[in-house]
Formats: sequence, structure tokens, C-alpha cells
Amino acid sequence: MRVNVSSHDLKVSDHAHHFHPFTDHGALGVDERRVISRADGVWLWDTDGNRIMDGMAGLWCVNVGHGRNEIVEAVRAQMSELAYYNTFFKTSHPPVIELSEKIAEIAPDHMNMVVYGSSGSDANDTVFRMVRTYWDVMGKPEKKVIISRKNAYHGSTVAGASLGGMGGMHGQGGLPVPGIHHIDQPYWFGEGMKTGMSEEEFGIWAARELDRAIEEMGEDKIAAFIAEPIQGAGGVIVPPASYWPEVKKILEARDILFVSDEVICGFGRTGEWFGADYYGTKPDFMPIAKGLTSGYLPLGGVIISDRVKEVFHRSEAGEFYHGYTYSGHPAACAAALANLEIMKRENLVGRVKNDIGPFMQKLWAELGEHDLVGEARMVGLVGALELVPQKSDLSRRFDNVGRVGTIARDHSFKNGLVMRAVRDSLIISPPLVMSEEEASEMAATAKKTLDDTWKTLKADGLV
Ligand SMILES: *Cc1c(COP(=O)(O)O)cnc(C)c1O
Repeated sequence: MRVNVSSHDLKVSDHAHHFHPFTDHGALGVDERRVISRADGVWLWDTDGNRIMDGMAGLWCVNVGHGRNEIVEAVRAQMSELAYYNTFFKTSHPPVIELSEKIAEIAPDHMNMVVYGSSGSDANDTVFRMVRTYWDVMGKPEKKVIISRKNAYHGSTVAGASLGGMGGMHGQGGLPVPGIHHIDQPYWFGEGMKTGMSEEEFGIWAARELDRAIEEMGEDKIAAFIAEPIQGAGGVIVPPASYWPEVKKILEARDILFVSDEVICGFGRTGEWFGADYYGTKPDFMPIAKGLTSGYLPLGGVIISDRVKEVFHRSEAGEFYHGYTYSGHPAACAAALANLEIMKRENLVGRVKNDIGPFMQKLWAELGEHDLVGEARMVGLVGALELVPQKSDLSRRFDNVGRVGTIARDHSFKNGLVMRAVRDSLIISPPLVMSEEEASEMAATAKKTLDDTWKTLKADGLV
């Protein structure tokens, strides 16, 4: 690789040749971009010499923190032994075997098998095909519809974006594909509050949207329900406490499959291994990615329940024509194994549940007292601050949704903390290894960001 290229030259080249994910390319100026060149723990360095705190753990994934040489060494050792072989045609290899066993150990008791890909998106493509094939094998091919939720995020491939409930994504390329139905989301602050229901009533109402949809379309047409335990990219939407227990009841009464998309909630984010553990749900499929390798190498997959496994093992199932060249990639599996080893040795799940999680949640709740914040919420180490123009009247929202969120996000960067803006909220999802000192610094920087945002809004007459 080239060395000693100036930061500006890198940006010019990036501008000319690199098409970025989720980016308005016409609006992104050459020097507006950041080039991140190094990271350690919760810290990032860019090519302009700035040191920045990584409040998003990369993109919700670097759970064990940056710069863990143990993972690098495990990958190096695996690559010199066997860098690549496929898992098609009756073939396997030691790292994918060991990883599958380790995942079965931490997954809920009734889930013991893993099918692999390289990302959360392709995991949901796998889900889409497996769910329908399951019902074909069961002799009920008319059960095809997958129920999802508005504002869900299940990835960016055709199936992922279709299963997801993002209007903007559906508007590009004629999505969703047929056979997916989106019901309302359990978003209390954004949608529940204005209905006049209590938070608990709203949670029940949103859960029963599932039952109403099943009733309307007919249970004999419905294949599955897919949901994130806590919606991540949609804005860290923590459902009312009444929501999941009610959904669970509905799923128990109905003959449909349940997909718990664990791409963010999995691997300790909530203080349990999986979001399904946190809410006590019983999934048939759990798409995983992100924290599985802490982002050190791309790896995704779907953990399947014993009843799904049993159906795919029937003689009438025959061959399932599905898989990726990189399904169970040896180097990626070695990264995942080393990552899980660190998570267990450092008891990161317990740490989020009992130690750094509650510590950060308390600081986060204090930010909720700021004049600009209408609601502060956090489960484990994933949280959001909803920004509002008038704290004394929580029914009011900013005009021009997204403008204030972006102002706040830009202040946060300037102050040395990566937070993400979703609409007019600020999102945080830091590495699970951060120290109390780092958590305090993160909260102090978030506080300064709120103060700076308030000043900007005052100066612009927006509050
Ligand atoms: C990120 C994400 C995905 C997509 O994963 P990619 O690895 O980006 O393809 C799917 N589901 C959820 C819940 C996610 O947060």
C-alpha cells in the first residue's frame, strides 16, 4: 500500500473512485469526508490527525473494541494453514465446525445449527428462502407471506431491503418484492404518545397489529414474522415492556415461524447473548453478523431452531439449492472464534448486564434532563436521545425532520465523538469493553454536543 499520501490526496482519490454506501454523492464534498486510518480500543484516528471516540463501535459491530491482536493472530494462523476452502459438496473444515459448536452453546437451547454467509443482509436473504422452503416441505406452499414492520432494518440486498420497512429504500428499485407485509412499529416516542394510549396500552396495540394482519390475510397464507428485538438503524426503538410478551402469546397461538434479527442485538449488546434472551422470545431463525466477529472480518449467518433443522433433514426436503462461495469462510470463522473467546474470558455479556451497562445507562438518563432531550433510552449498551424543540411540550417536534439531528451529529464529530443521527435523535452503540472513565468522557462529550446544538438552534431561531 502507498505510504505518505497526504490526507487531501486520499480524499480526492476517494471522491473520484469510491462509491460509498448510503451516501448522497452529489452532495458530499471532497474535504467533507473523513479518512480513518487507525483504531485502538474505543479510539479512532483520522488522516487529519484527529483522535475520535467511537461511540458506534464502527457500525454497531466492534463489540470487543479495536486493535485486538489476538484476533489478528488467530486469523493469521488460520490463513497460513488454510486461507480458503468451500463448504459445498460434502466438505467442511475445522474452524467452521468449531465455530458452529460454540454458537450452538451460547444460542437458546432449542437452536443448535448455523448456516453461514458474509453479512446480515445475505443472512436475511437466506431466511427469506428458508422460510418459504420450510412451508413447501411441510406441504403448505401457500404459506408465503412474511410479516415485518415499518421502519425495520434487515439489510440492503433485494430481500433485506424488502423485509426491512424503510420507505426511502422501497422507493428505489421497485421494492418490496411481493409477499411481504409491513405492520406498525412499537415506537412509543415517535408514534405512540400522540395516540392518547398509555405506553403499555400502545405496546399491546402494536403487538396485536401482528394478530390483526394474520387474521386479515389468513393464517394459511402467513409464513413468518420477522423483527429486531430492538430496532437499531430505525433509531434504537426500545418497545414498550408490554410488547414482546404480547407478541409471544400471539406467536404461540399461531402456526407461523418467528425470525429474531439479532444482527445488532446479538453478541452482548443488550447484556444477554441475544436479544431473544433479553425478551424471552423463542425464535426459529436468528440472523447474526456484526458482533459475531466484532467486524474484524465479514461473517454472517442464521442460527436455526431444531424444528426447522428437522424439516430440512426430511427425505422429502431433498437438496436446498442455496449457499455462498464464502459460506463459513475459514479465516472469518477463526476471527469469530477468537472474538467469542475474548467475550467469554472478559465476561463482556455479564459486564454489560451488571457493570458498564448500568453505569452508562445512568449517565445517559442524566442527559435526558437536558432541555433539548425529550427522551433518553438505553438497553445494555445501545441507546438514543430524542431531540425536541420544547421540553415542556413533548408533543412538539422540529420541522424538517432530520435537520436538527444532522446539526447535532456534526457537533458531536467536531467534539471528538462518533454518534449517529436518525431523524432528530442521536444514537450510541459503543464497544462493550469501554472503561468507566471512557464512558464518563463519552457522556461528557455528548453533553457538550447537546449544549453546542442548543446554541446553534438558538442562533438560527429554531428553539
Ligand atoms: C446491519 C443490519 C443488517 C444488515 O447487515 P449487513 O452486514 O450490513 O448486511 C441486518 N439486520 C439488522 C438488524 C442490522 O442492523
